[in-house]
Amino acid sequence: MKKICKSCGAANQGVARYCYGCSASLNNSLPKNENTEYKLSPSGNNVYVVDDTVSLGMWMLIIILNGIPILNIFVMIYLAVFSENENLKNYGKAGSILIGIALAFAIMLKACS
Ligand SMILES: [Zn+2]
Repeated sequence: MKKICKSCGAANQGVARYCYGCSASLNNSLPKNENTEYKLSPSGNNVYVVDDTVSLGMWMLIIILNGIPILNIFVMIYLAVFSENENLKNYGKAGSILIGIALAFAIMLKACS
């Protein structure tokens, strides 16, 4: 969830009370871009947030692709670089780093044997 600042349009963390971009109060933040999906916060105090939840179908696709050797490396890198969703981007970064460590270990073991 992200709060969009009414004054400068910056995307703030859902828990933020003041904008990191311009310090404006986020208690009455309204969406700047009407094409983006917004919904009222669960607390209902007139704060608008972006719903950045990853859909069930998207998770299923990612899990299936991750089951395919070699292709999963490209899926992780793709998510880390191109995903617009912050959660998927971090997931891709974490996966890419772990694959990198695993590859480094494999190469070291190969070199030592
Ligand atoms: Zn702002």
